[in-house]
Amino acid sequence: MMVNFDIQFFNLFVLVLITFFGVLLIASICNGICIQHKAQRLDEGGRYANGQKRCQCCEIYIKWDGIWCPCCNYRLRSKPRNKKYREKYQSRIKKQEVIINAL
Ligand SMILES: [Zn+2]
Ligand SMILES: [Zn+2]
Repeated sequence: MMVNFDIQFFNLFVLVLITFFGVLLIASICNGICIQHKAQRLDEGGRYANGQKRCQCCEIYIKWDGIWCPCCNYRLRSKPRNKKYREKYQSRIKKQEVIINAL
């Protein structure tokens, strides 16, 4: 009876421990690293067309090649959300393709 209780208590303890560290790992916290990759100021369409990405966790635009934020590991947004800027972004991308094709 006593042994069973101990095992149950131990299982609960392990579960709490795993949950605690799991939350720590998943939680996205700004570490201040993003400041080093801060992108120059452009309008939203121009930013994304220039390869800048938005981290919603750090609330910052950064110049970064990866899809994950180097600072908080949150997934970066690489395309504009706003329709107006999205059209602007696509027209810029098309323009870039035309230039590349012309070369
Ligand atoms: Zn950050
Ligand atoms: Zn971030």
